Amino acid sequence: MSEAKGPTTRIGYGFDSHEFRPGVPLKIGGVTLAHDRGLGGHSDGDLLLHAITDALLGAIAAPDIGALFPPSDAKWKGADSVVFLREALKRVQAAGYCVANMDASLILAAPKIGPHAVAIRTRVAELLGVPADCVGLKAKTPEGLNLEDTAVAHVVVLLKKRSATKKARKKK
Ligand code: MG
Repeated sequence: MSEAKGPTTRIGYGFDSHEFRPGVPLKIGGVTLAHDRGLGGHSDGDLLLHAITDALLGAIAAPDIGALFPPSDAKWKGADSVVFLREALKRVQAAGYCVANMDASLILAAPKIGPHAVAIRTRVAELLGVPADCVGLKAKTPEGLNLEDTAVAHVVVLLKKRSATKKARKKK
């Protein structure tokens, strides 16, 4: 079997922002949080999954989420963002890589993410196929940013070559 070309590790970065909107559920990291408003957007507005998807795609220099799933396509209206992440992960695997770890920062005024952090990290880890201790999640309030009605996500992800992982296992 031929080894995947390219570096042993690759880093990817993703960013997303969505505006709060009444009357829609709040989904962050594939988890629905109890809140009086949700995040608007063409899909389910899950900004964390969108930023992770873009980080995965960026790491392998693939087209971004907007190019693969254009908001102009009615097919993606109200879509579960897990679909976007799974497609990105499929492309990562096809390129010969898997996720080593990821880290995210959320910036939002409310709700507090702390009480939901374990649930979000667990769900994201499950989606990425990594242990929960390979998913970092921090949340900050938008001090001085004047972003009371907006949620922002920044994500970095590290990929490792799958062949390198197999070799490491054999050596043990
Ligand atoms: Mg988005």
